[in-house]
Amino acid sequence: MTKQIKVKDLLIGGGAPVSVQSMTTTKTTDAKATLAQIERLAEAGCDLVRVALNTPLALDSFQEICERSPLPVVADIHYDPRLALAAIDRGADKIRLNPGNVKDSLKEEIALSAKAKGVPIRIGVNLGSLDPQLEAQYGRTSTAMVYSALQEVKTFDRYGFGDLCISVKASDPKICYDAYKTLHSACAFPLHLGVTEAGAGEDCLAKSYSVLGGLLLEGIGDTIRISMTDDPVKEVAAGLNLLRSLGLRRDYVNVVACPMCGRTEYDIRPIYLALKEAVKEIRHPLNVAVMGCPLNGIGEGKDADFGVALGAKGGILFAHGKQLGEVAHQDVLPSLMALIEEAIHG
Ligand code: SF4
Repeated sequence: MTKQIKVKDLLIGGGAPVSVQSMTTTKTTDAKATLAQIERLAEAGCDLVRVALNTPLALDSFQEICERSPLPVVADIHYDPRLALAAIDRGADKIRLNPGNVKDSLKEEIALSAKAKGVPIRIGVNLGSLDPQLEAQYGRTSTAMVYSALQEVKTFDRYGFGDLCISVKASDPKICYDAYKTLHSACAFPLHLGVTEAGAGEDCLAKSYSVLGGLLLEGIGDTIRISMTDDPVKEVAAGLNLLRSLGLRRDYVNVVACPMCGRTEYDIRPIYLALKEAVKEIRHPLNVAVMGCPLNGIGEGKDADFGVALGAKGGILFAHGKQLGEVAHQDVLPSLMALIEEAIHG
C-alpha cells in the first residue's frame, strides 16, 4: 500500500478512494471566472483542482481562489520556484513541481515552508519537459521519467520532506504505462495517473482508459486526471466513469446490457438508454441488466440485482436470475424503476 498524504481534507493513497482531479483553463488572474469553473467542477464530482500559477501578477487572485474554492487547490508551478514559495504563503493546499523545469535553487526553502504549513508536493514529471541531462542519458523513455522522479524524491528527502505524490505522464500510452509500473515497484509514494496531450473525444478516452484502466486494475494509482482538450468538466465525468466502470466507485446504478445477436427479438437499445437516463442521478449501488432474449438473458444477467429479458411479446423481469413476472413492453421501464425505488427505500 502506498503512503498516505492529506490535501486539505482529501486523503490520497494509503487505501483512500481513488480521487478525480482536473485543471482550470481560465486565467488565474481572473479569480471570478476561475472560481466559477471550479464550482462547476465540484458539482460534476471533482475532488481536487489544479490551477496554473505562472506569474506573480496572479498571486492575489490565487489567494482569493484558495480562500473561496469548494475544492482543495493545487498550484501548478513551472520554471519559477519563487512562485512555489509564494503559493504556499497564499494558501495553496498542494504544490505541483515539474523537476524538468524547476531547478534546485530554493527547493530547501520550498520543502521547509511546505512542511511548516502541511502542504504536500506533487513531483510531476512530463516526458515533453524532461530534465535535459536525463534526456541526453536515457532518451525520451519511461526510464528517464522514473529517474527524474526518484532524483527529485531524493532531493526532498535530503531536506527532510516526504509528503509527496508523483506523476510520470507521457502522451505515448506504452511509455506512460511502463513508467508508472516501474515507479510503483520502486517507491511507496501515492501516484497521480494521467496520459498527457491525449487530445479529446474517443482518442483521448482510448488512450487514457487503456493506460489508467490497466494500472488501476493492478491496484496502481491513487488519484487520476483524464487530460482532455475540452471543457474540464468533461474530464471529471470521464474520470468518474472510469472509476465506476472498474468498480472503484460504487455510488451509482450500473446498467448493463447485452450486445444483442441473432436471437434478439426486440431492440433493447431504447429501453437501455431510457433507463440509463432515468437513473443517472441516483447515488446508490445497484446493478440492473437489460437483456435481449428470455432464453439466455435471465441466466446471463444473474449477477444483476434486477433485470429484464426482452422478447417479441414483452419482457420477463428477474432478480438475481430468478423470474419475477412478465410485463408488456411499455411497462418495462416503470417496472424496473419501481424495483429500483423499492431496493433503495425498502
Ligand atoms: S442475451 Fe440473448 S440476445 Fe443478448 S446476446 Fe445473449 S443470446 Fe443474444
